Amino acid sequence: MARASTIGQVSIERVLAGYGGVARRSQLEAHGIRRAAIARAVAEGEVILVRKGVYALALVDPEVLTAARHGGEVACAGALRRHGVWILDDTDTHADADVESAAPSSRPHVWIGPSGRQHAHAACRCRTHHETGERGAGFGFVDVLLAMIQFACCASPEAFFVALESSLHLGLIGFASLRRLRGRLPQRLHELLDLADDRSESGLESPLKLRLRRRGIALASQVQIEGVGRVDFVLGGRIILEVDGRLNHDGASHRHKDLMRDARAAALGYETLRFDYAMIVHDWPTVLAAIEGRLAALGAVVQGASAVAQDR
Ligand SMILES: [Zn+2]
Ligand SMILES: [Zn+2]
Repeated sequence: MARASTIGQVSIERVLAGYGGVARRSQLEAHGIRRAAIARAVAEGEVILVRKGVYALALVDPEVLTAARHGGEVACAGALRRHGVWILDDTDTHADADVESAAPSSRPHVWIGPSGRQHAHAACRCRTHHETGERGAGFGFVDVLLAMIQFACCASPEAFFVALESSLHLGLIGFASLRRLRGRLPQRLHELLDLADDRSESGLESPLKLRLRRRGIALASQVQIEGVGRVDFVLGGRIILEVDGRLNHDGASHRHKDLMRDARAAALGYETLRFDYAMIVHDWPTVLAAIEGRLAALGAVVQGASAVAQDR
């Protein structure tokens, strides 16, 4: 089908799509697209003039478009989300009120590189990132590793840790990348790199693990128990701790399965504690009190048992 914006087999839309939706005129021209064809596509509304000499598909991701207007790529939390990384709703979990929120509703974070030029545009609320990194085509969103470095600056340590473990679990970064991160991140975050592994599935497991470690409570994660299956955590060798995801644990059949699991675990001498997203994110003191209470009781039982054994 011949279209106004088509020259031979090459359409502006296709070339722009190849650049992630945004490209410079010089890049379009390098693919044989003439200025007249660009002007026609803009007039027809298929292509947007982002700023002088920069064009975007009309249907491009709005945050990518904003970043391009600003002069760079979507950075930080926005880039991590586009890579599929689990980001905590950290409006709830920021320890510091003055740490800028990385929640979806907040301002776009844009990377322009160390020497890139920031462009003025209407309704600009962008936060500009300047880290060193490979600037590819110049638009779109940054790679996972650079986004993690940026997120470490903008988010709470806990939110960073959650994103880090999610990236590891998804295989977006490997353990070699952790070494590279160590070289780029401040010392205070190195303990988080040591603690991170690729086993946390739900994204809620990561904050739980971090908070318990900080209370001196060691835990084993993703433990396979014969006759029960794989459980999220085991504490003190006796307490099973399960984290129910936000959406996937509703319904009677799930409840029945959970009860059956708990019964089988109880038969083996385990006690199961279950927490959901709302409890971990909004009511941590309740969760911690439950865990510490059970651990204390377990300690008493263990001591009592050994005292009985010694009496014999
Ligand atoms: Zn940022
Ligand atoms: Zn801006």
